[in-house]
Amino acid sequence: MFHPQRWALLRDYFLLNRISVFIAAAFALLLSFSSFAKSSDTSAEAIGEYANGCIKGAVELKDGKNYQVQRWGNSRNFGHPQLIDYIDKLVARAKKAGLPDLLIGDLSRPLGGSFGSASNHGSHQIGLDVDISFDFSTPRKSEYELTHPEDVYIVDTKNRPTQFFDNNRVALLYMAAQDPRVERIFVAPGIKRTLCQIYEGHDKSWLQKIRPWFGHRGHMHVRLGCPLDSPACVKQAKAPSGDGCGAELASWFVPPPPSPKPTKPKVKPKKIPPARCQALFKENNYN
Ligand SMILES: [Zn+2]
Repeated sequence: MFHPQRWALLRDYFLLNRISVFIAAAFALLLSFSSFAKSSDTSAEAIGEYANGCIKGAVELKDGKNYQVQRWGNSRNFGHPQLIDYIDKLVARAKKAGLPDLLIGDLSRPLGGSFGSASNHGSHQIGLDVDISFDFSTPRKSEYELTHPEDVYIVDTKNRPTQFFDNNRVALLYMAAQDPRVERIFVAPGIKRTLCQIYEGHDKSWLQKIRPWFGHRGHMHVRLGCPLDSPACVKQAKAPSGDGCGAELASWFVPPPPSPKPTKPKVKPKKIPPARCQALFKENNYN
């Protein structure tokens, strides 16, 4: 439930620990530079755009200590080594903070590319995106529960926080944003709005990475920036500066003006993968 005092405690905990957070962030930055350097020895490479591309040398993420991986089908548990390393570190950080075990959703397919037209995922194509469920895997999930995932929504369809919007989920969102490799975390607009309210009057700079988007009530979608080993990875535009708690967020809650006449649903043209991805798919007989 929403307990203002508990929020305040949690917030103060993070504020009081700002210095240690700063040191940890500096350390994480150092570490990430060293792991960027390390991964350039591997043959991993993200190629193309987040929503139209592929990945070479992806690593499979299997269930591990303090986390499990949902099986949405289609082997969607592969990622760039940097993404796997990011998840490892987040799991360790969450464990240290006393959170329940994490439940990881979709990453990418073994060579990336589209999940298929039946999926509502457009991105997750280059091994740098991961969905992290707002459900936890404590107690440990059965194989059936992992293959038949049920979402835990932290805001309802009207973007109001549910009873699941608790300290653990706020802490998880906060921790997920701390890694310098993370560029964006997509969540439902109501999640962003609630975080802006909780942190009102305090340091909201970390909320810049928390981006409102459609869906995303049952999981956050974390996106890493292009790693140094991937020159053909197409960088996204930088997230707008500031915490994004003002006009931009408000625009998500304004109903669109009624359109003058009913518009035909637009047929999206099929995306053509980059030539290198087409070659990679062909040579591996990959659909
Ligand atoms: Zn996603």
